[in-house]
Amino acid sequence: MKETGKKFLGIMFECCNIYRRVYINKEGNAYEGRCPKCFAEVKVRIGTDGSDTRFFRAR
Ligand SMILES: [Zn+2]
Repeated sequence: MKETGKKFLGIMFECCNIYRRVYINKEGNAYEGRCPKCFAEVKVRIGTDGSDTRFFRAR
């Protein structure tokens, strides 16, 4: 079993200009979070191709 050690991802919520961490979901296949201000949802799938982008933007 592989342990990536990464349990969260930094997201820039462009809707409200807020930077926040979102956490891995229970299935372990995506990071899921919500804008703290307007509650816009963001979901970032964890790539199986080894992509390791640390910074995503929500709209
Ligand atoms: Zn927002």
